[in-house]
Amino acid sequence: MSGTSASMTGKASPLGEEIVSRINRLAAISETADNLTRIFLTSEHRAAADLIMGWMGDAGMRAHLDAIGNVCGRYEGQRPGLPCLMLGSHYDTVRDAGKWDGPLGLIAAISCIADLNKRGRRLPFAIEVTGFADEEGVRFASTLLGSRAVAGTFDERALASKDEAGISLREALVQFGLDPDQIGKAARRRGELLAYLELHIEQGPVLESRDLPVGVVTAIAGATRLSARLTGMAGHAGTVPMALRRDALAGSAECISAIEQSCRSGGDGLVGTVGTIHVAPGATNVIPGQAHFTIDIRAPTDTHRNRAVAEIVRQIEAITKRRSLELQLDVTHENRTVPCAHWLKAQVAEAVAAEGYPVFELPSGAGHDGMAMADIADVAMLFVRCRGGLSHHPDEHVEPADVEAGARVLLRLIENFRPRDAAQ
Ligand SMILES: [Zn+2]
Repeated sequence: MSGTSASMTGKASPLGEEIVSRINRLAAISETADNLTRIFLTSEHRAAADLIMGWMGDAGMRAHLDAIGNVCGRYEGQRPGLPCLMLGSHYDTVRDAGKWDGPLGLIAAISCIADLNKRGRRLPFAIEVTGFADEEGVRFASTLLGSRAVAGTFDERALASKDEAGISLREALVQFGLDPDQIGKAARRRGELLAYLELHIEQGPVLESRDLPVGVVTAIAGATRLSARLTGMAGHAGTVPMALRRDALAGSAECISAIEQSCRSGGDGLVGTVGTIHVAPGATNVIPGQAHFTIDIRAPTDTHRNRAVAEIVRQIEAITKRRSLELQLDVTHENRTVPCAHWLKAQVAEAVAAEGYPVFELPSGAGHDGMAMADIADVAMLFVRCRGGLSHHPDEHVEPADVEAGARVLLRLIENFRPRDAAQ
């Protein structure tokens, strides 16, 4: 299919080959030799930034490192100083990561611009590519530090947070050669951006199950996290009759089943996960007196998620009441759903169709830099299929043909991009 589209657009040179080879070069920059770990404000971060800025320069962009360590490249439009279409993704990783999560979107964007540059093509807007320095939040337990700085929503209090070695974010920035007091300068104004667009691997199995190389993202799902503490009565496993027990773990098990059932029947895109549980006292011959578990609920719209959370809370309250268990239920984290802008999503769909692929829409269950960027720009995302839906894992894989498909769609999208006012 990419052969057809290449002949349709009259461009013979494939984009995918260069992207895959750069993905591999970037993946070699790791804290450890036998797996991929690239953490914010480390020497690997520095080496990766230098490599990426070199690629940006080769693509005809002006590149610099901003005050939080993001790499920023700019390709001028038909005249200098025009507002930009911003493309981007992150180049930090989780520990023992896959090499595609983040870098694919960043490197594909640079290769698309290199292609424009090679043809001497300038558009009626500038294009900027931002490689976000910290999306995963591995080092300082706070995600999206890079994109929040660009969006102007960086929380100064984060500077005091410390990594495992006791080094504060402020100290780490200074050691890296950045000035923590200049982070405000990384912020961009709304008027400078026409839109923010991100290509990313799906990190889930939906596109693969539909046999599609690319998908149009409808929204980045919001999430609610809760913590549930159930207290009953510990007792001897041999002497307390079943009818007289107040078993906190058995009560939790019933709650967990109810959460699963509720999310299974709660409509499209609703997902609920109990990812941790701790039981006390925790012995074979003791009835559990206490249990503590976490709940993570996500849905493509806030109304849907809030309705599901309310229903789950109601069920947990009913179960614990019937079992005479004390309940402490707290919301520990909440973030809103970021819908992709209709006008921009329509252009993503148009580019997908023009490249000869069926247009398939899906929500993003995972968080992305677009969540922060939505504060200063309309956002949209293009997903590329990854093998088995596997991500945050060394076996994460994208087929070269899918890299080519994603890059082709992105390039077409850039070349046909119309700003909001012109698009309506
Ligand atoms: Zn990512």
